[in-house]
Amino acid sequence: QATIKSTGKDPYPDWKPGEAVPYAALCTTFSLVELTTKRLQITAYCSAFLQQVMRLTPQDLLPTIQLMLNKLAADYAGIELGIGESLIMKAIGESSGRSLAVIKEDHKKIGDLGLVAAKSKSKQGQMFKPKSLTVRGVHQGLLDIAKMEGHGSQDQKVRAINKLMASADVSSTSKTVDIEKDKGGPSEAKFLVRFLEGKLRLGLAEKTVIIALAQAVVTHESAKKGKVPSTDKLAEGEAALKTVYSELPSYEVIIPAMLEHGISHLHETCKLQPGVPLKPMLAKPTKSITEVLDRFEGKDFTCEFKYDGERAQIHYVAPEAISEFPAAANTLSKDSKSFKGLAAIFSRNSEDLSKKYPDILEKLDKWIKPTTKSFVLDCETVAWDPQNKKVLPFQQLMTRKRKDVKTSDVTVKVCVFAFDMLFYNGEALVKKTLRERRELMHNALEPVEGELQFAQYGDAKDIEEIQHLLDDSVKASCEGLMVKMLDTEESGYEPSKRSRNWLKVKKDYLSGVGDSLDLVVLGAYHGKGKRTSWYGAFLLAAYSADTQNYETVCNIGTGFSEQLLEELHKELSEIVIERPKPFYSHSTTKNDQPDVWFEARYVWEVKTADLTLSPRYRAAIEEMGGKNGISLRFPRFIQRRDDKKPDEATSTSQVAEMYRKQEVVQKEQSGKAGVD
Ligand code: ATP
Repeated sequence: QATIKSTGKDPYPDWKPGEAVPYAALCTTFSLVELTTKRLQITAYCSAFLQQVMRLTPQDLLPTIQLMLNKLAADYAGIELGIGESLIMKAIGESSGRSLAVIKEDHKKIGDLGLVAAKSKSKQGQMFKPKSLTVRGVHQGLLDIAKMEGHGSQDQKVRAINKLMASADVSSTSKTVDIEKDKGGPSEAKFLVRFLEGKLRLGLAEKTVIIALAQAVVTHESAKKGKVPSTDKLAEGEAALKTVYSELPSYEVIIPAMLEHGISHLHETCKLQPGVPLKPMLAKPTKSITEVLDRFEGKDFTCEFKYDGERAQIHYVAPEAISEFPAAANTLSKDSKSFKGLAAIFSRNSEDLSKKYPDILEKLDKWIKPTTKSFVLDCETVAWDPQNKKVLPFQQLMTRKRKDVKTSDVTVKVCVFAFDMLFYNGEALVKKTLRERRELMHNALEPVEGELQFAQYGDAKDIEEIQHLLDDSVKASCEGLMVKMLDTEESGYEPSKRSRNWLKVKKDYLSGVGDSLDLVVLGAYHGKGKRTSWYGAFLLAAYSADTQNYETVCNIGTGFSEQLLEELHKELSEIVIERPKPFYSHSTTKNDQPDVWFEARYVWEVKTADLTLSPRYRAAIEEMGGKNGISLRFPRFIQRRDDKKPDEATSTSQVAEMYRKQEVVQKEQSGKAGVD
């Protein structure tokens, strides 16, 4: 465990027990974190600060964690700030008395709106001294901004940001911010603006915050008994919090419970339950059936069809069970017209999709057996052709409206294909084997053709049988197979993990790199010849969860129809930004620059022949030795992935893994060639 040197001085003499946590104290921690890349040191800074919060103002622990994570609430609450770059610039200008033109000029020069805000603040004289910002005040202020909607809300948002900005850096406005030397230091204005932009850019990944929180709680609990915790105790605390959080990803529930009952009792009070969506288990790609057999050799496994739709998690509580699940009453919708009890459908990133799929919710009652009182179901919603009774491609599903769908307007019907049950009648099932979970799922629900079906599966033992099932899945318009561990502990459900116990075998990718990639569009090049009115090629990036940067991986100009290019031009023109964001990692060579840059918003699925190293791109560059990034050779556009957010794009570590696997295969092949 890394430690922090103490100066012996109390840096926050104003922070008294029970009083609101000063926002300045959090920003000081942020600026310490910003100046290092060492994970242990980052964790130590955060943990020390959280210990202080627990000692003095434990009631502010929740908003402190939320501001550290750049999140105002859990994902399923659907709270988004909805603020673009131009609104932020307007607010910085108005709150500091500088013109928009000057702010834009600064932005061009400095490139980081946070630093522009810090500089603007440091130049500002102060007639009177407003009250300093507090963590809970900033959290509430931002929450209010997120909730502003409708006519005039943009102006309202600017005014509310101005109010926060006016109170920023009250105690340090006389200091000139040295942008070069200390990245703007602990300026509150800088971190406020970065929060508004949606990226604090501290390398403070969620897993680091969870570890820091666990360490802080364990240390604080031991300190109350006059002890220092052992390394084992700290590790136990971390493991406990990680497990609980993976099954119940809600700090709103976990933090108060932890403060009341202590970390060692967390698993008794905080359990998976309907109403709090968990992050789904994910699969590893494979390149050959032999790879599948190597992995599962000697174990029982099952091959399910891989349906090509949208991942969904359906939560349900029967009327008579509602009192057992307090969280459900807040998050699941009750629509007595169409179904009894409480229910909701969540996406793979825990967004509430109930307003997208009212037609599914309306049919729920038909499928639920009378003995079923509560469940969480893992499934795929797939476009369905009722005439021919077969599934339709993913693109059909994406044409459905995302919000406020009326059942009477639905033209693309969907069928739910259920493949896993995570909770049933008051009990979490994640530790049970897949065979047991599957059996409970079949007992709980009554399938109806074209509405709810169980994912088709077969038990294969050798290459021929798997190949046979793969062919059947393709005939049934599926993408391939999901091969899963069936018995033993290894077949438990692993929330949020891309696990070796689930392997995907896609029909198209048995050669090549094994899987397509989902990449974020960062920039574009103007078209030539026939394509002059649109963009002709695009710059794509993968996402690094560690650094929270988008790292460029290829240019792409193949796979687009003219109609699509026209549509993309319209869509992307709306998110053009003046210069790349500081969290874009790209080549700075003049010839490599795209003609326009975009906000990181859209994810596209892309296929590639193979991966190669190139000085022009930045994906996984650190892992590859710092000189060359990984890039895609002959990339081809497949489709938009509007069901994915940019930070759910293929990660740079997945790209690195694909690259390494390819290297191994190539070596094997050249070895064989030598022998032959
Ligand atoms: P892909 O682009 O291959 O869907 P992904 O990154 O969206 O990849 P993966 O975990 O890699 O997600 O692939 C598994 C996805 O396949 C699941 O997220 C789910 O949406 C879908 N799926 C379809 N049928 C099944 C099934 N029987 N079991 C599990 N997942 C399935």
